[in-house]
Amino acid sequence: MPEKTYDIVVVGGGLGGLTAANVLARGGHRVLLAEQHFQLGGLASYFRRGRHIFDVALHGFPIGMKKTLRKYWSHEMSEHIVQVKSVRFDNPQFSLDTTFTKEDFTEILVDRFGLVRETVDSFYNELEGMNYYDDRSMTNRELFDKYFPGRNDVVRLLMEPITYANGSTLDEPAITYGIVFSNFMSKGVYTFLGGTDCMLRLMRQELAGNGVEIRTSCRAGKVTLDKGAVSAVELNGENVGCKAILSNANVVSTVYDMVGEKHFDRGFLDLAASTRLNNSSCQVYMGLRRGESFDHIGDLLFTSTHPVFEPERILSKDVTSRTFSVYYPDIRPEHPDYTIVASMNANYDDWASLSKEAYEEEKARLVRESVGALEKYIPGISGKLDYTEAATPLTFERYTLHRLGASFGTKFEGLDVSMKLPEQIGGLFHAGSVGIIMSGWLGAANYGVIAANQVDKYLSKKA
Ligand SMILES: Cc1cc2nc3c(=O)[nH]c(=O)nc-3n(C[C@H](O)[C@H](O)[C@H](O)COP(=O)(O)OP(=O)(O)OC[C@H]3O[C@@H](n4cnc5c(N)ncnc54)[C@H](O)[C@@H]3O)c2cc1C
Repeated sequence: MPEKTYDIVVVGGGLGGLTAANVLARGGHRVLLAEQHFQLGGLASYFRRGRHIFDVALHGFPIGMKKTLRKYWSHEMSEHIVQVKSVRFDNPQFSLDTTFTKEDFTEILVDRFGLVRETVDSFYNELEGMNYYDDRSMTNRELFDKYFPGRNDVVRLLMEPITYANGSTLDEPAITYGIVFSNFMSKGVYTFLGGTDCMLRLMRQELAGNGVEIRTSCRAGKVTLDKGAVSAVELNGENVGCKAILSNANVVSTVYDMVGEKHFDRGFLDLAASTRLNNSSCQVYMGLRRGESFDHIGDLLFTSTHPVFEPERILSKDVTSRTFSVYYPDIRPEHPDYTIVASMNANYDDWASLSKEAYEEEKARLVRESVGALEKYIPGISGKLDYTEAATPLTFERYTLHRLGASFGTKFEGLDVSMKLPEQIGGLFHAGSVGIIMSGWLGAANYGVIAANQVDKYLSKKA
């Protein structure tokens, strides 16, 4: 029997795990948080190079994050949520600036795209009425065909940012798009003033204040079961006793690696085996030399040179579509700097199959072409940079252990696997990016709260 036991071990310090740990500790439970990386945050991460601080996944989230931080973290953290000033689209079909709100999109769709206002209103009404328990058979393709048949340009405006944000395609259930898009459309796109490093510092303080024991560089291995229920988990090779485990690791890895097939029933394993992982990402990080600057060009730029919107094309290693996130000195008033992050959706296999030399060459090409593409928006940028670096799906896999470097968890079916886990193994819960709806900063954090409430009920029954 392990010497020290906890009520709950949270495996993984991504936003789902961190939020669950905080809620459980506030509820009076003894919580151990184990994160394999030396830093908390998971995909919601940052890194320092010289005097630059680069944000990995802080491009924008819906206003709902303010309420989530206020309720489950602190008032101070929620005060850091600020709206981004402008979102820009530039592609062969249209170039425009928007606040990314329903009102602004409606005007654009009517005035610039020539749509009938009633059609646009009906589309929004249908989205707003969608919820998780609805019919899931309608796809995004069918939804768009119903309101905007033959209008690839309209679909591009409505869907391309969501494809970038969570890997959605036209074949996904329309409710996943409807829920995520409506969250953004309610009030626009928001960011965290002070950057990801500031948010994670405040989260760590809050967790420690609430009594969470945090172990970084601490990898969870096998789960030990006693009569079908969790009794311990291996952390860096040592067994640690616990009444429950909440895994924030990839849901498929949780089933197959942490627990093992033999402990699940056939029906559940079929479900787990058919779960598709979402795609991965590439990024190029660019830092400006001290003393250099540029004018405001927007905070988020969805750019593409591809003639039409094709979600599958966005994954290609021959990149035509990039999202540029631009961080001006005011995002970190204490540490003023200009940084730009170009993000591209990507396929893991395109990168994993390269030889070491080809991999380095392709990374260099990614940097070169991304800086080149940015010249259109910031002329002379290549001469102003003092740092560039690229991340690929292999980088995401290395730092988060996500299978295939999945950036946005799983496709829709993964949500069922995640939610049914405690029915299979007593005391084993999961929270983190699954099912598209629960992905992103807001989705992952809110899912952490939902899972924490389930753990709390389980522990109360056990007491
Ligand atoms: C390039 C990119 C840009 C993005 N941009 C945005 C954006 O602008 N807005 C937005 O809302 N979302 C964005 N996202 C998505 C968002 O960051 C994620 O959906 C969210 O952070 C995922 O949180 P999570 O709880 O699922 O945990 P994850 O971030 O997946 O973290 C899981 C954690 O578990 C740890 N772990 C795994 N296995 C183990 C183990 N065995 N033992 C211990 N620890 C383990 C990992 O190291 C990791 O820290 C972006 C993602 C990417 C990749």
